[in-house]
Amino acid sequence: MFNKKTIEDIKVQGKRVLVRCDFNVPLKDGVITDENRLNGALPTIKYLIENGAKVILCSHLGKPKGEAKPELSLQPVAKRLSEMLGKEVVFACDDNVVGENAKEAVSKMENGDVILLQNTRYRKEETKNEESFSKELASLAEIFVNDAFGTAHRAHCSTVGAGEFLEERACGYLIQKELKFLGEAVANPVRPFTAILGGAKVSDKIAVINELLEKVDNLIIGGGMAYTFLKAQGYEIGTSLVEEDKVEYAKEMMEKAKAKGVKLLLPIDNAVATEFKDVERIVTEDANIPEGHMGLDIGPKTINEYVETVKNSKTIVWNGPMGVFEFKNFAEGTLAVAKAMAELTDATTVIGGGDSAAAVNQLGFGDKMTHVSTGGGASLEFLEGKELPGIVALDNK
Ligand code: AMP
Repeated sequence: MFNKKTIEDIKVQGKRVLVRCDFNVPLKDGVITDENRLNGALPTIKYLIENGAKVILCSHLGKPKGEAKPELSLQPVAKRLSEMLGKEVVFACDDNVVGENAKEAVSKMENGDVILLQNTRYRKEETKNEESFSKELASLAEIFVNDAFGTAHRAHCSTVGAGEFLEERACGYLIQKELKFLGEAVANPVRPFTAILGGAKVSDKIAVINELLEKVDNLIIGGGMAYTFLKAQGYEIGTSLVEEDKVEYAKEMMEKAKAKGVKLLLPIDNAVATEFKDVERIVTEDANIPEGHMGLDIGPKTINEYVETVKNSKTIVWNGPMGVFEFKNFAEGTLAVAKAMAELTDATTVIGGGDSAAAVNQLGFGDKMTHVSTGGGASLEFLEGKELPGIVALDNK
């Protein structure tokens, strides 16, 4: 999966290049509220413009479920991209994505021109990777470039199918960067290698816990998923989030960690409340949580222990917050871990997308990390050791 052709390996001059980007940006009243994904797409687009390609961009936005929903039009993206690139990005506004507007705009393209197609998920065939729509997309271009890491774990027409009907398939700079940092961190980590997992549920992270136990020296667990583990250890967990049907699995994972010589770190104290609200932070003596209380963050002793482990690591991969960081009173654990990672100068620090990426960016630590992944689900599947269809489908070098 790592030896894929990049845009620099193919001749793009004068070629029509279909580029799958991740323009799934948050919108409020037609205004883009977070431009990270647009910024992430720029290096590939600029390279293609500078090297004389005819650049045909496509992406999904939200979940229109096969219907043309005006509020999920990519028009605001075309407008903002035009400003960012300092040149017009022609918006082909066809509700059927590959319609008269798109065909006409493509026929008039000069080298270095850029077009953006309408939201690919306006078509119901898109998420089913149906050949008919893949062929329509492919009919516009000669070369396929995938630069949408956020959807690389999905086999859709615009991520996989269309490429099959084109001459060459390469990755853009964003996917290349994701493969380099996520890939190297997991395949060749400088040790000690520590993984930090948090977030709401054990069930979302089953495969990743199992896989990481094969690779890491330390596995730190926090967030809502920690309480299923604490229950498995025999602690009282009050009204904390728990998945009863995963208690046995948690026990198995604790045994696996022991057998593999992996240090599994679980909370030794907690910050709790009587209700799921941003109320006063009550700290427990030990891992036990009193009746009628729920764990909403890791406690101070746990924070110390986790931060020490982070400081002594050379490679760290983090996915999922340590507590309900959206509540000011329960953001301390997530903040402390983010800060400890950000302060490391001779370690590789990788944030595996989703909520932890949002938290790290929100806290202003994004540019202090070696890499903040742009794909939540995709980076998790990558860490699970799965092959991502959007990457497998690209040509090998
Ligand atoms: P995930 O998408 O699985 O990474 O989960 C992220 C969500 O987990 C965030 O919205 C957090 O608020 C939530 N979360 C973290 N810790 C807890 C906790 N102790 N109890 C309930 N939810 C939590």
